[in-house]
Amino acid sequence: MIKKLIRKILGVRSAEHTPREPVILKAKEHGIDRSLVSPNAIRVTQTLQEAGFKAFIVGGAVRDLLTGVKPKDFDIATNATPEQVKRLFRRAFIIGRRFQIVHVMFGQELLEVTTFRGASDGQVQKDAHGRVLSDNHFGEQHEDAARRDFTVNAMYYDPASETVLDYHNGISDIRRKTLRIIGVPEARYREDPVRMLRVVRFAAKLQFSIDQSTRAPIAVMAPLINNVPAARLFDEMLKLLTSGHAMACLQQLRSAGLHHGILPLLDVVMEQPMGEKFVNLALSNTDDRVRQGKTVSPSFLFAALLWHQVLEKWEAYKAAGEFPIPALHQAADDVLMAQTDALAIQRRIASDMRDIWALQPRFEKRAGKAPYKLLEHQRLRAGYDFLLLRCESGELDPALGAWWTDFMHGDNAEREHLIQQKQRLPSHATGTAEGKNGPARKRKPRKRGPRRSGTEAS
Ligand code: ATP
Ligand code: MG
Repeated sequence: MIKKLIRKILGVRSAEHTPREPVILKAKEHGIDRSLVSPNAIRVTQTLQEAGFKAFIVGGAVRDLLTGVKPKDFDIATNATPEQVKRLFRRAFIIGRRFQIVHVMFGQELLEVTTFRGASDGQVQKDAHGRVLSDNHFGEQHEDAARRDFTVNAMYYDPASETVLDYHNGISDIRRKTLRIIGVPEARYREDPVRMLRVVRFAAKLQFSIDQSTRAPIAVMAPLINNVPAARLFDEMLKLLTSGHAMACLQQLRSAGLHHGILPLLDVVMEQPMGEKFVNLALSNTDDRVRQGKTVSPSFLFAALLWHQVLEKWEAYKAAGEFPIPALHQAADDVLMAQTDALAIQRRIASDMRDIWALQPRFEKRAGKAPYKLLEHQRLRAGYDFLLLRCESGELDPALGAWWTDFMHGDNAEREHLIQQKQRLPSHATGTAEGKNGPARKRKPRKRGPRRSGTEAS
């Protein structure tokens, strides 16, 4: 009784407190709309159940269903082993070495089927900071529930009986719009610091608040992010930036001090008015696209986040006497190198980012054959969208973006006219450092603005 009271006062649930029996909610209590459930997810649970196994939809899909949102993908949890799962489906593949899961494919839809994970038994391998390195054995459903991150992510939905199994009071947190970590927050963040990024992402995406005892340790524990493998951080950052709430996520990351180990120089960029405007524009355009169901390009996003660092170094190399083009390449190298330690950007993405940056001075050459050559460039669309973003943020004269909009959409005669018109005008009329490959600094805004705005990264 006293223990219970202390726990209540501290607002902390003991790690050992892992309820064995769930609260079971019937259809009219949870109100899940079955039409939002993937028919294939229902097929998978049904097939497993008919073979004598337990099977549920779990995690984010249940959370989304309970908030009336159509889940983007469905995860299934079962007591069948990966081998047993594989045997039941025609297109099923066992993935992973340490902890195997099964990918079941139906046409384009991929369902992830995971065997219930067991509780940690003290034998787990950890790094010097307490991060769990491998802890992968099968277990009971209640143990599986206790290993999940947040109460709202630890519910199981059985489509057959239309019941929700709730071990950690997730349903009341859904109703209160609260994110609460399961177990002792400090311990759970230590085991896996990525949970700090996840809570920020979910808070922004679901517009939930973070429970006080779940939030409090983050400020102190944020540096643990530095021990997470860079590739995992990259995946997590990408999820965050393409969540449709990138702006809100980044604001939360900054206010929690979590960005230091991920985008170390973000503060520097955001402190300059133009840098801040540029990043905000890029992110809000990305959010619009995601919400409209359009694709977004990770390379475009990261190119935007790091651009003002590149600009600064570019200027410095030029001031030191380097020619503009090599100076830009050196600046790009420096920024990508510095970034790799914190957050390894995949090589393919880094190469696309370089292309987007390297295209920028080429947009400033509007004489002769140069603009026609640029039209054939594979990354033209992304480069052009990036150019518009620079114009919109006040870094370049909007007339340059408008000229390219006309040129790209014009027929041959119109294009020729644009080039000649350009040749007749003195170069300063456009406000750009024409032909010099240098970025134009901010000039007085001209009357004519770009015809379209938005970053449609191809
Ligand atoms: P999203 O909508 O972004 O996919 P999600 O909750 O489904 O959100 P996933 O990364 O797909 O997130 O993970 C599926 C489930 O696995 C989670 O809901 C949670 O129960 C569990 N999970 C994922 N990552 C962790 C983690 N780092 N620690 C504990 N449990 C986790
Ligand atoms: Mg998911």
